[in-house]
Amino acid sequence: MRVLITGGAGFLGSHLCDRLLTDGHDVIAVDNLFTGGKRNVAHLLGRPDFEWIRHDVVNPLLVEVDWIFNLACPASPVHYQYNPVKTVKTSVLGTLNMLGLAKRVKARILQASTSEVYGDPAVHPQPETYWGNVNPIGPRSCYDEGKRVAETLMTDYHRQNGVDVRIARIFNTYGPRMATGDGRVVSNFIVQALDGRALTVYGDGSQTRCFCYVDDLIDGLVRLMSYDGDNAAEPVNLGSTGECSMNELVQTLGRVMGRSLAVEHRPLPENDPVRRRPDITRARERLGWQPRVALEEGLQQTVAYYQRPESRPDTTQRRSRRS
Ligand code: NAD
Ligand code: UDP
Ligand code: UDP
Repeated sequence: MRVLITGGAGFLGSHLCDRLLTDGHDVIAVDNLFTGGKRNVAHLLGRPDFEWIRHDVVNPLLVEVDWIFNLACPASPVHYQYNPVKTVKTSVLGTLNMLGLAKRVKARILQASTSEVYGDPAVHPQPETYWGNVNPIGPRSCYDEGKRVAETLMTDYHRQNGVDVRIARIFNTYGPRMATGDGRVVSNFIVQALDGRALTVYGDGSQTRCFCYVDDLIDGLVRLMSYDGDNAAEPVNLGSTGECSMNELVQTLGRVMGRSLAVEHRPLPENDPVRRRPDITRARERLGWQPRVALEEGLQQTVAYYQRPESRPDTTQRRSRRS
């Protein structure tokens, strides 16, 4: 296959490049380098089966491919709230362009959606049939509602134009190459611990998330893209089911690092979901997928990555606020 990965220089996108090249595909990575970095794909440059294009998906793109993974979108609250209008444009115009491309070249397209489509969920755990509890005008809305429109566009291009679509609702994923300084909890905690600083726990730390290791998640994305069974266009949750409070995450990281870690409490951000856990029955039944890497093991790999000096330059290249 010739595969296009938008957001290909990001955290998940760069791991997906690695995986698809290993599987023998040709990969084109497209990225505007807002939160991603060339260093994430530097090891692939020069390979005949890999190309990289600096391009912003809000603009049309003409390439000929068989599969499109649409991952382009800032993913952490710090980054997606930096220029909220641009975040909406990336999810809406970016997804529209990739769907127009998929329609023209008859490619299969997978959208990286998110557990944030469930908002602050009133149903727990969250099955794909739950419609969510999202504030349309809050600080997280540019991301959450942008992704919801992206799902709508995917589904309508499928119904109206017969485009072959897949929708992955990705829950919190962590691992090597998460940008330091993007504010996500796992990278924040590890970098703070390695620097000998107190871990910043927002609120009382009782809010929960389920943390999935990147290799598991990438395997889920590839399985979903390859799935040819019934109802393939329906969204599928991909994530860990091991629910963990932020206080428990501190404890687990302390065990991995072999010392107790100091904590400093900060105010809980507005609209921060209280609980989150996927129901992954659909992924299990349709894709034969479930996460395999335990949190302690994944944290060990991630700590080892951040211990390497080259993993820590804050190369995030922020673009202007112009949208
Ligand atoms: P990331 O920030 O590392 O990757 C996103 C990539 O998209 C970056 O390389 C960025 O430069 C690029 N990008 C942003 N706007 C763009 C634009 N307009 N044009 C071209 N490129 C653009 O984040 P990630 O964690 O790798 O997330 C990848 C995708 O997965 C995102 O769509 C995100 O919403 C989704 N997702 C991630 C998680 C998670 O826990 N990591 C959870 C749910 C959903
Ligand atoms: N598009 C693109 N690459 C293509 C084909 C289309 O980026 O190879 C864009 C196109 O510019 C348009 C969007 O995808 O903005 C939707 O295309 P579609 O053909 O569905 O709609 P239309 O162009 O008729 O509005
Ligand atoms: N969080 C925290 N300390 C930090 C960063 C985040 O306690 O330094 C909390 C945050 O309030 C949220 C959880 O960790 O409840 C997960 O945050 P993240 O931004 O990683 O993901 P999301 O909120 O998008 O699920």
